[in-house]
Amino acid sequence: MAFPVRTLSAALILAAALGPAFAGPKSKSGSAGSSSTSLACLPPELRSALADVEQKFGAVTVISTHRPGAVIAGTGRPSQHRDCGAVDFRPSGNRRAIVAFLRNDPRVKGLGLYRSGHIHIDAGPYRVTWNK
Ligand SMILES: [Zn+2]
Repeated sequence: MAFPVRTLSAALILAAALGPAFAGPKSKSGSAGSSSTSLACLPPELRSALADVEQKFGAVTVISTHRPGAVIAGTGRPSQHRDCGAVDFRPSGNRRAIVAFLRNDPRVKGLGLYRSGHIHIDAGPYRVTWNK
């Protein structure tokens, strides 16, 4: 495997360490407990995009990948997280530069920017960017 596993596993360890702090107040839906920060289930294009972000801009903290039963907030439509087709992460580097990079990356379809600082990327089917 050519992926920089070392840095990604460092991010996973960090995410695991921060996990309980995030999991507590967030677990409001019935599907709590089965969420995941595993990168293994992500489509390869998202894994490689995330690896590139780490390589260019520094380590990221993975907040969430797979959330069974997840819906898009405010719409009720199925979220890409439902089938592990999306990853939410917190960047450590220059957020504006990372967003510019992802906006131009054909591997990234959905790009969500959250006021909390975390960034959502997904693998489609639509090219869409949103701010919340
Ligand atoms: Zn997301």
